[in-house]
Amino acid sequence: MEKDCELRLGPPERSPKLDVIVVGAGLSGLVSAYRLLEKEPSLRIRVLEASNSVGGSLQQNTQGEIGAKWFEKSQTHIYQLLQHLGVPMQQRSLVGSTLRRCWELDQSVSSNLAKYELQRYINELELKTAFFKPGRFSIRKNSTKMVNHINNRLFFKESRKFMTSLIELICGGKASDITYKEFMSLCYGCGGLQNIINIYLDCPNTLLEFDSARLLNALTQGLQRADILLSRQAKAIYHYKDYIEVHDSVQNIHTTDALILAIPLNALQQINISPTVPLEWRKMLNNARPGVRKMMTSFIASYRDGHWRNGGYSGSFLKYDPLIVGCEYRPTVYTGLMLHNDGMESLVRSMTLNALAQHFGEEMKVPHTYSQYTFELSSLQHLPLTTPWNRIIWSSSAAASTCYRGFLGGAVQSGLRASLNALLVVRPQVVTWTDVADIHCQNCPNIRDIGALKLWLSALNLYNVGYYALYASSVFLALQFAYKKFG
Ligand SMILES: Cc1cc2nc3c(=O)[nH]c(=O)nc-3n(C[C@H](O)[C@H](O)[C@H](O)COP(=O)(O)OP(=O)(O)OC[C@H]3O[C@@H](n4cnc5c(N)ncnc54)[C@H](O)[C@@H]3O)c2cc1C
Repeated sequence: MEKDCELRLGPPERSPKLDVIVVGAGLSGLVSAYRLLEKEPSLRIRVLEASNSVGGSLQQNTQGEIGAKWFEKSQTHIYQLLQHLGVPMQQRSLVGSTLRRCWELDQSVSSNLAKYELQRYINELELKTAFFKPGRFSIRKNSTKMVNHINNRLFFKESRKFMTSLIELICGGKASDITYKEFMSLCYGCGGLQNIINIYLDCPNTLLEFDSARLLNALTQGLQRADILLSRQAKAIYHYKDYIEVHDSVQNIHTTDALILAIPLNALQQINISPTVPLEWRKMLNNARPGVRKMMTSFIASYRDGHWRNGGYSGSFLKYDPLIVGCEYRPTVYTGLMLHNDGMESLVRSMTLNALAQHFGEEMKVPHTYSQYTFELSSLQHLPLTTPWNRIIWSSSAAASTCYRGFLGGAVQSGLRASLNALLVVRPQVVTWTDVADIHCQNCPNIRDIGALKLWLSALNLYNVGYYALYASSVFLALQFAYKKFG
């Protein structure tokens, strides 16, 4: 494995033709390469990774995971992969489950109403998700924008802010850029809104967790025959009839029979693909990131003593603006996420520690150790890119079918699907029906069809209940007045 790159001058270096190149050594890229070699060890595979380490969003540091670590058992593809590789999983620790959460302490009338309407709105969206199975409805251009949907249904500023931040977290774009139907279809593909809230915000003890270093270790062990080049960003792709050329950031040219792009949609936008991709995909790529880049900084702060527990707090924390979420993990370690615009990374430490100090005491301002890592939020479109374009194959968790898109399960599913697509190009004779069965997506068990009455009741909110109450009482008063007047 090449550790670093040095800048080369002179004409670009051209390496011998490979069978498959995988761009991106995140979970989906590593799974693609691993599965390809498992199926056909003779394949010549190269993985190009822009950063100086493998894993992408599965980032680790000496204090623990700073990226992805939790999933529900219903994310079958990651569950089966961990079992297959012998990576142990465990139920999330029960530490602090009986302690109070800080948002439960805010019991003023308005905050209770805001929390109530927010929970009701989330339940309403969750119940309706089943109707947005791809192919079961049509996405019309003039569907309501999510920002209007929220403003029409939520009364309090806090609940509106929470929902708009949640949308940014899920789809990597603003609530004003995504329609209600697109958002609901996306929720369907992500395993439901409650799944998203569980993984990023609530972290209930029903989730499973694993050591991402062990997973990466197991995958890279299986990739010893592949060539993994770090600090090599793919810059340009030239698609010819019989082969593909990839130009990287150190001006080397790699030639291959099939190319797997295991990178998020926003990273795809930065690659010059020639000839340009078909119009419908171009549109999807161009729409991937309107406006400012949205970032998510994950932090770990450790303290000599979990003093918030002595004060009766669980450590779970939620702040709306900017969205900061914290979840207790180990008794003296505090982990959390903050959502912010590009360029605000340097302010994250002071902003989070100050916000935590407001709730858990001044000691929060001086952690024993502190580290953070900033990720760009991946754009998710309501339709994934799953069909290859000749020799170019799309992967990444955004390109998963309806199997937990944007999550670990989706990354594994898209990686398996991409490896199958690549085999069909380079070694179709080794593909069996079980490979096809492996990438099958079951309907998410969290998303259930519900009855019409429950659905109708779920749509009641402060606005329409207030409106109907006013309407009914004015009709009643008018009738009473008419009865008195005319007998
Ligand atoms: C902080 C955080 C916490 C999360 N927590 C959870 C969780 O608990 N549970 C869960 O299910 N999901 C979680 N997720 C989501 C999950 O981690 C991701 O959906 C999944 O890991 C994505 O994998 P990927 O391979 O598709 O993309 P990535 O992990 O983003 O990997 C893409 C790789 O491609 C590289 N790359 C990009 N452009 C280029 C280029 N031009 N050339 C070469 N390389 C390139 C990048 O450097 C990166 O390494 C979390 C995500 C984040 C950011």
